[in-house]
Amino acid sequence: MAYSKIAQAKYWRTFKGRKSQRRCKWKKRGVIIQIPFDTFYQTYLNKKECDFCGVLLTVYPVPRNNNTKVLDHCHITGKVRGVLCHKCNITKQ
Ligand SMILES: [Zn+2]
Repeated sequence: MAYSKIAQAKYWRTFKGRKSQRRCKWKKRGVIIQIPFDTFYQTYLNKKECDFCGVLLTVYPVPRNNNTKVLDHCHITGKVRGVLCHKCNITKQ
């Protein structure tokens, strides 16, 4: 195939690539977003601190750690509850 793995890896690093990757990942996990995705995604990107503990969130390309930004959603209804750090997300579940 002409579309190489390298080209794909490069695409995932672009803004558009990251966005569609996240969208796909959230959908797979059963996250239900009740507002237009673009609006939601902008809010997600603008989020700088954890909703729960207030720690400064880190995002790609910073390697995954306790402060990594994650989307918290209700596992029963799928509704988005907020944006948390990785640590809080684990503790809460
Ligand atoms: Zn937190």
